[in-house]
Amino acid sequence: MITGVAGFIGAHLAEQMLESGVQVVGIDSLNRYYSPDLKAQRINSLKKHESFEFYQLDLAEFDSIEKIFSENVFSTIFHLAAQAGVRIPIGKLQLYSTNNLVAFSNILELAVKYKIRDFLFASSSSVYGNEAAIPFLETEKDLNPTSYYGATKLSNELLAKTLVNGTNTRARGLRFFTVYGPAGRPDMAYFRLIASCVAGVTFNLNGDGRIKRDFTSIADVIETVVQLEADLKRKSAGFYDVVNVGGGNPISIQELATLISELTGVRPTIVQGVAVSSDVSITFAGHTYLESLIGQVPSTRVEKGLPPTIEWALRPENLTSIKKWIESVK
Ligand code: NAD
Repeated sequence: MITGVAGFIGAHLAEQMLESGVQVVGIDSLNRYYSPDLKAQRINSLKKHESFEFYQLDLAEFDSIEKIFSENVFSTIFHLAAQAGVRIPIGKLQLYSTNNLVAFSNILELAVKYKIRDFLFASSSSVYGNEAAIPFLETEKDLNPTSYYGATKLSNELLAKTLVNGTNTRARGLRFFTVYGPAGRPDMAYFRLIASCVAGVTFNLNGDGRIKRDFTSIADVIETVVQLEADLKRKSAGFYDVVNVGGGNPISIQELATLISELTGVRPTIVQGVAVSSDVSITFAGHTYLESLIGQVPSTRVEKGLPPTIEWALRPENLTSIKKWIESVK
């Protein structure tokens, strides 16, 4: 089972699983945080595989999700559905509580109730906040997220650790670090900078662009997640851990803008605004633990990882929609 299968990471993971012969049941609510058309496009592309089954459902609705558990046998759950992004304002925080807390609790409870062996879920580098030592390590005890989003992800980790203890289920939290790639998320800086260069959309920069992110290519992320699943299968029942999924090569948004400009041959139109308090100044993955588990770490440099993303944006069918996708972000 892959939840959030119409999302950026979920769709890429499903594609990889289906191509390697695994049967996938995907769930997604196709919510309106950004263009449901882009999500539907990802689902349509997955539907070319016969062993893909899709349910448009909201994970916050326990009974309809339980029905799927009662009708199928799952070896592994990849729970990727969530309200992503750190910038949802006060007044709309229900998006985080419903999609990251209620939905999470439901799927976790069902995983344990139906004795699913492996439960891997998306956490985030946002759990580290601004006070953790650099590079960020899974052993860090002083976790003070700066965003409500990060706090929901940290809560997910605690809930999973507590519930799987003493059960048949093994759980692993995947702390993703700014994932980028083709068919990505239109709320993210790399996507919007590329759109600015290829489609003339204005890029609104929050702050001075000196904040740094440990960008991780989607290809590296998928390879890492597949190997982390294989590794989790070797652990005993009730096992729990969290793993950084990042390569430890942060670059600033300014550097990212320069690079995208060089790669496209066009200067983005940038309008500078105020910094956002939920944005941390840097993310930096320590990868000693990841390397000890799977013997490798994400290593694609952005110079290599960005060209396939730019090529995707330049495809006529995407180029005509990219402005609409950017404007769809709520
Ligand atoms: P995404 O927004 O593209 O995908 C999330 C999907 O979940 C969406 O398609 C959405 O419709 C679905 N969804 C949300 N709430 C749901 C619900 N209640 N029921 C059913 N479906 C629901 O995001 P993504 O970039 O693919 O991220 C995947 C996961 O990884 C998320 O949990 C996100 O918080 C986490 N993450 C992503 C990044 C990144 O850089 N992309 C970094 C850190 C963590």
